[in-house]
Amino acid sequence: MLKCTSCGREYSLRKPYQRCECGEPLELELFKSTPGIGRRIWERFLGFFPFELNPDLSLGEGDTSLTKAKKLSKELGVKLYLKNETLNPTWSFKDRGTYIGIHRALQLGFEKIGTVSTGNMAASVAAYGARAGLETYILVSSTIPEEKLKALALYGARIIKVQGDYGELYYKSLKIGRKRGIYFINSDDPFRVEGYKTISFEIIEEVTPDYVVVPTSSGGLFRGIVKGFLELKESELIEKLPCFVVVQAEGCSPICKAFNDRKEKIERFESPHTIAHAIENPCPPSGNAVLRLLKKIKGLCVAVSDEEILDAQRALGKEGLFVQPASATGIAAIRKLKEKEIIEDGTIEENSRVVSILTGSGLKTLSHVEGGEIKECWLQELEECLRYREEKEMSLQGY
Ligand SMILES: *Cc1c(COP(=O)(O)O)cnc(C)c1O
Ligand SMILES: [Zn+2]
Repeated sequence: MLKCTSCGREYSLRKPYQRCECGEPLELELFKSTPGIGRRIWERFLGFFPFELNPDLSLGEGDTSLTKAKKLSKELGVKLYLKNETLNPTWSFKDRGTYIGIHRALQLGFEKIGTVSTGNMAASVAAYGARAGLETYILVSSTIPEEKLKALALYGARIIKVQGDYGELYYKSLKIGRKRGIYFINSDDPFRVEGYKTISFEIIEEVTPDYVVVPTSSGGLFRGIVKGFLELKESELIEKLPCFVVVQAEGCSPICKAFNDRKEKIERFESPHTIAHAIENPCPPSGNAVLRLLKKIKGLCVAVSDEEILDAQRALGKEGLFVQPASATGIAAIRKLKEKEIIEDGTIEENSRVVSILTGSGLKTLSHVEGGEIKECWLQELEECLRYREEKEMSLQGY
């Protein structure tokens, strides 16, 4: 049974329902089970998914590493763990949701799939569509840079550039898709959300966090991670829930704005502009659902500036991790909360265990990355050149 996250109305699983008549997203009930052993997360948490999973549809998503951040832990006075989702087959966490979404489409008898996206989700659906041998439609906004379309074409997807309101495209794709036999696995599809739960399961296999920090756009990822933890609690695998933090970019933060104004509904964010393009959705389809969740679980919502985001991206580079700006927002938010700039909305306690989700790879957004200082020399001078660098660095460190 699918249930509305707002009015509670129930819908049969036999039809491709994705949203309630009231306009809000649908969700599957909480699963309660016991994990077992297995090489992959899908095997270990078998009892937490709505249907049997077919390994042939997989590209190896999930089971990403959780890396302890030494320098940032010290700087921030917390135990910081980074969930490295750049390790997925198309370099973002979207693959976990696409994997389950494809099962749903096939279960309902669809032979075509699609999505509405400008970036990571498009690549993910195109790749999994190719893997499953399904005709795949990717609807993009007409302003998308050519560069981003190349990978999609390589996967063999059918790309359609659509002129017009991008927010409306989400709803229209669902409607037309049902008519034309295309299952659109959009950002907060109920089954995509089911796939995202695996992030929570993997975290809990390694550490019991006090805080989980989630870069948020449509709200699908946040809903999935929270649902995962709620199921772990229902199944008595954890005693209490961590504190969840929604992070948005200041230049496009409709959820944080409504949260701070204590509103129950989000409003369209006017003239969005941020470097974190992957989380630049002015009208998130799960925005209200995220607000309801934040209230229920007493979560936090933090918005960070482009400057703070780029600083955080560089700090992650010094931990050996290269993420895109959207994925660095978590670290920027932790810094902000630790500095207690937002006392009213809560803070992060000293020495607590904090997990930040590194949602996608930096290689996808190379254009804005600044190069460092580069020295050149002749082969004959190499030794001298290296010595010069060493001395310069020692003097910089104050030796
Ligand atoms: C999609 C995406 C997000 C946000 O996920 P939502 O489910 O839309 O909230 C965050 N970071 C990256 C890199 C993404 O691709
Ligand atoms: Zn409803």
